[in-house]
Order: sequence, then structure tokens, then C-alpha cells
Amino acid sequence: MKKILGLLLATVMCVGVSSCGKQEEVTDKTYVIYSDNSFAPFEFLDTETNQYIGVDMDILAAIAEDQGFKYEVKNEGFDASMGAVQSGQADAMIAGMTITDERKQTFDFSDGYFEDGQILVVAKDSDIMSEKDLAGKNVATKIGTMGTEYAESIKGKVGFETVNYEDSPTMYTAIENGTNDACFEDRSVVEWAIKNENLNLKTVGDVVNPKQYGFAVKKGANTELIEMFNAGLANIKANGKYDEILAKYGY
Ligand code: GLN
Repeated sequence: MKKILGLLLATVMCVGVSSCGKQEEVTDKTYVIYSDNSFAPFEFLDTETNQYIGVDMDILAAIAEDQGFKYEVKNEGFDASMGAVQSGQADAMIAGMTITDERKQTFDFSDGYFEDGQILVVAKDSDIMSEKDLAGKNVATKIGTMGTEYAESIKGKVGFETVNYEDSPTMYTAIENGTNDACFEDRSVVEWAIKNENLNLKTVGDVVNPKQYGFAVKKGANTELIEMFNAGLANIKANGKYDEILAKYGY
């Protein structure tokens, strides 16, 4: 009897130890998380501290603290982030990324944490009043984004050209200086820039394709990270931290 008990105890201890080991493996890992480099108010460089700040940066920090995981962020741009997640160079990305069925074929997403859609953006003195007025014009597009996808989807019908840009600020500048006539950009982002950076731009019409933003991993990878993100998101929504973060950036 004693022998059997001893054996039983040893087995239980062994299971205990190995599951402990596994736990440590998960929490000891430093996740590499990619993000956009200029997408205020979600991620942007605070020139005073030389640190990236924003809704995404703060939500990620609050969730990591709540769930006890370590991470480092690389603010490399939107398209670069998607590439890094797909190649396995990044464990995940948070970049104001819209959850879509098409992206779900190659990414797994967390629960949504913010809703936004795209809106037409033109120079303040432009006489473009609707999509139809884009006929014969040049439309700036940011590689890999929903704004680009939308522009490409109506380009043939309306009859305009598209010109690619790497990031949002260069796209805005190209419209301000007349190189391009318009772009489609996430409304909360371009409105933040118009207000806080005093851009010579305006939005026209209504938002198209309003959808949720999500934290993303490569399909089938880092499942535990998505689970932690969702659990942490629920906690920071419940304890008021999420609302506090949004309020900090004017929502
Ligand atoms: N929400 C848009 C998308 O997912 C734009 C994201 C971005 O430019 N960072 O395509």
C-alpha cells in the first residue's frame, strides 16, 4: 500500500512539476509584437520622450500587465507588420488592424477592441464632394490597408489612378501639396490628425465598411497569446482601464 501511495505521489508530483515548467515557458517568453509607426492616436512617436504612445500601445501594456506576459514592440509600419507576422518574425501585431473575413484566412484575431471604417479625405479647398468626383483624379493609397482595398474596389467604376505610399503621414502630405487629390483613411485616425496636427485636409461623406480593430497572430500560432489578450481585454474593460485609455486620447 505504502509503495503504491509513494508511486502515486511521485506521479502527481511529476505532473505538477511538468505543468509548472510549461507555465514558466509561457510567461518567461518575451513576445515580439509589431505595430504601425505613424497611426495616431493608435501608435505614434512622442517626440519628447522618443517613445511610441497611443491607444494600441496603452491597451497592450495594460493587458500584458494584467495577464503577466512580457513583450517588446517594434513599430515598423502596417504592411511590414503583416509581413513580419506571416513570416514568423513577429509573434503578433497591434496596429489599428481591421478584422476582415479575408484576413481571417491568414490571421487569427482577438476580440474587437475599437470600431472604425474608412472615409474619403481631400484637401481643405478641394471641390471633391463625393466618390464620383474622383473621376480622372489621383488617389493616394497606403499599402496593405482597408482604405487601399476600398479605393481599388471602386477605381475601375469611378475611373481614377492610385499611387502607393508606405505610411499615413506621407499620404496626407501628398494630398496637402497637391501631388494627389484624395485618399481613403480610417476616420478616427485622419480626424485626429486634422485636429491635432492642423492638417489642411477635410473628410467628405460617410464612413464605409465600419468594422472592429483586433490584435492579430499568424493563423494557428500563438493561441495562448490571443487567449491572454482576450482575457486581459475583458478585465481592463471591467475595471475601467480601457475607458481611461480611450479618454486619454480624446474618446
Ligand atoms: N484599419 C486599417 C486596416 O486594417 C488601417 C490600419 C493601419 O493603417 N494601421 O487596413
